[in-house]
Amino acid sequence: MAIRFKVLGGAAQDNALWVEVDSGQSIQRLLFDCGEGCLSALALAEVQSADHLFFSHFHMDHVAGFDTFFRANFNRESRPNRIWGPPGSGRILQHRFQSYLWNLHEGLNAVWRVSDIGEADIKTWRYELPDAFETAHEEAAVVRDGSLVLDEEEFTVEALTMDHRTPSMAYRVTEKTRWNIDPAALEALGLRPGPWLKALKDPLELPDDAPVEGRPAGELREKLLVPTPGDSVAYLTDFLLDEAAAARLETWLAGCKAVVCESQYRAADLDLALKHYHMTSVQGAAVAKRAGVAKLVLIHVSSRYTREQRAELLEEARAVFPGARFPEGWG
Ligand SMILES: [Zn+2]
Ligand SMILES: [Zn+2]
Repeated sequence: MAIRFKVLGGAAQDNALWVEVDSGQSIQRLLFDCGEGCLSALALAEVQSADHLFFSHFHMDHVAGFDTFFRANFNRESRPNRIWGPPGSGRILQHRFQSYLWNLHEGLNAVWRVSDIGEADIKTWRYELPDAFETAHEEAAVVRDGSLVLDEEEFTVEALTMDHRTPSMAYRVTEKTRWNIDPAALEALGLRPGPWLKALKDPLELPDDAPVEGRPAGELREKLLVPTPGDSVAYLTDFLLDEAAAARLETWLAGCKAVVCESQYRAADLDLALKHYHMTSVQGAAVAKRAGVAKLVLIHVSSRYTREQRAELLEEARAVFPGARFPEGWG
């Protein structure tokens, strides 16, 4: 049970984030954004094993690498092809799907589903290779439950709509809490392990008032089950971080272990950050610190800066959040 993540793309280049949620039994692979050249850090087999692609927004530097992703997966039928992003994602991606000549696709039946994450609901569009992605099939909209976007057995993905003069989605992946049996408590109660322990972990299978081993299941749950909180990582990029946005984010990031955060500008260029609805490294570090996260990785640094200035940008963040770092290999 773990979340591993890897920042794709180098310093002063487009960046993206690759996340693997490893349950011990299976691995789910999530890609956040798809800037130019980002996928060259992955093996083709990895790109072909991506389960979900989440876009923050569709500025070129976040979508320019999509051709590589699509070329690897356009005809994939072995697993669902799922893409998520802000409102308008379906419309923009349909243009991408249709921007090739399709005359050799007979017998190929791949289906792509793209979801527009709105504030109140999620609208999903289905595009099919057999008709060369010509029809946008609208599926039933789903009313959102808070910031929840995707609820899988082992983890959730949540999204918060931020302001980049266009909706830009902040994402958070969180493993679900695991419940383990405390062996000492089991012995103290004089109980023997058995299949009932597995059932005890599922309140749907065994309601609180159901008798188990001569006691109510609820009582045994309280005495025997120990929670292990899941791992988590957030991907924050391209939005204005004024006081109101920072306050929203800090609440939403509570308990999050790692944050991968845009740091487009140095503190001295705060006016540029405000003007272009981006962040400085100090702003990102301050949010991470107030939210109490354990790890902060800075990405998406402006190419206007020299190597030395980039090092200074990191030092400025470290004055606020001492553990802040750039991705591996950025020098
Ligand atoms: Zn942008
Ligand atoms: Zn950007």
